[in-house]
Amino acid sequence: MNFENIRTVCTTVLYMVSSVLFIRGIKLLGKADTARKGNLMSSVGMLIAVVTVLFEKQVTDTLTSGPMGNAYIWGVAAIALGSIIGAIWAKKVEMTGMPQLVALFNGFGGLSSLLVALTQYMTDKSINTFSAIALGLTVAIGAIAFTGSVVAWGKLSGKMFKKNVTIPAKNAINGLLAAVGLVGVVIYALSIAEVLDASVGTIGIIIVTAAYLILGFTMVVAIGGGDMPVIISLLNAFSGLAAAFAGLSISNSVLVVSGCLVGTSGLILTLIMCKAMNRTLYALLFSSFGATKKGAAGEQKEPKSMSVEDAYLILEAASSVVFIPGYGMAVAQAQHAVKELCDKLEANGAEVNFAIHPVAGRMPGHMNVLLAEANVPYEQLKTADEMNPQMSNTDVAIVIGANDVVNPSAINDESSPLYGMPIINAFEARTVFVLKRGKGTGFSGVENPLFTNDNTVMIYGDAKNTVAQLVSEFEE
Ligand code: NDP
Repeated sequence: MNFENIRTVCTTVLYMVSSVLFIRGIKLLGKADTARKGNLMSSVGMLIAVVTVLFEKQVTDTLTSGPMGNAYIWGVAAIALGSIIGAIWAKKVEMTGMPQLVALFNGFGGLSSLLVALTQYMTDKSINTFSAIALGLTVAIGAIAFTGSVVAWGKLSGKMFKKNVTIPAKNAINGLLAAVGLVGVVIYALSIAEVLDASVGTIGIIIVTAAYLILGFTMVVAIGGGDMPVIISLLNAFSGLAAAFAGLSISNSVLVVSGCLVGTSGLILTLIMCKAMNRTLYALLFSSFGATKKGAAGEQKEPKSMSVEDAYLILEAASSVVFIPGYGMAVAQAQHAVKELCDKLEANGAEVNFAIHPVAGRMPGHMNVLLAEANVPYEQLKTADEMNPQMSNTDVAIVIGANDVVNPSAINDESSPLYGMPIINAFEARTVFVLKRGKGTGFSGVENPLFTNDNTVMIYGDAKNTVAQLVSEFEE
């Protein structure tokens, strides 16, 4: 066996080891108590994959080139730059900024695949037709994931596209862009197959890049209401798919495996989110649900409010309490105070549960992460399906910074953009406390008739302060 054969065997085995670590890691991530181990395992897999790349022939061959052609210098510079920016960013980001950061990471994943494909296009003129098709699809999916995620970042951070944008003839435009981009892929593949001239292939690549960059924008900018969680999961799936196609186009097995893992898990999450929103993916992408309608204004009743002292008296007498957390709990960072209140209520003899809506907060699992951080036992976190049947027997439902996920118009107002989305039926509880700062709407911008129901009282103020005051009432 010569050196090159030994190198090929070693790199193949190491890629397989890292692929197995990724697969095992993602399996362990499925349960809260093994998630840390899963994360560590996947990180080790990634380290092995990165180090193995450094021993690939195409990389070691550049050792003899000058500094401008040396892959190690560029690689180390890129890793150093990325690590410094990433570390500073991760340190600086507020917990409430995590969802938009995750959205942007998806976009960077798509952009990386796009750049890998464009580099491959510029440097490797000897690829076969299959790799050329994979390369074209990498460009398409990477581009859509990139611009789509940037728009999602803008919407989640409130920095861009705060108001829902309506694109006239959206479906026709998006359909046209998708078709034109695919024609670009075909043109490029035909140029590689030498049916068309090589210069025409370049036009094909330019067409697919431009069409799918625009498509990412037009597809996501028009998504509104409460539909963003689904589109974010879909963009996550796209970034994985782009990586998988990039792996096919540069014949890198570990990139194919990791891309497929991200792509399929993103797709599974998309389907879970669709179910949570009671929406089909088709309707989400091709209807204007949630994008335009503001929902019925309803009766102009004023919500009733209550002092913390009076709320305490009701809580003290309650034998069953359900916490319904939402985005406002994340903003207030109220999770630790909530856990303290939960302990006080239990010590007082009440049965306490948490009803977690799958799209509560701004990223999948947002509430679960915060409550786990505050050591709320996982078994106490219940789904809407588990809690809703018990809601009418609940003495007090405490809505902590949640709005859209408890909006009854999702059930009874066909004109509402939220109509059809399953909610936590807080309105069925005997008494509903809503903890929020003022009259702000939720992410969808839809008015919430729950707040003016007879059995609802508002306790205005920052959720953390309000909960802390309730805790101290129990201590007096
Ligand atoms: P909402 O966004 O509907 O409502 C949050 C509420 O919290 C606001 O009405 C706000 O009212 C209140 N609030 C904000 N800060 C504080 C604070 N410091 N103390 C107390 N209250 C506060 O949250 P939900 O969790 O109910 O719903 C999530 C929404 O986000 C859904 O529409 C979902 O589709 C969308 N979304 C979810 C994603 C996910 O993956 N989970 C991703 C993207 C979007 P006020 O200003 O009056 O205090």
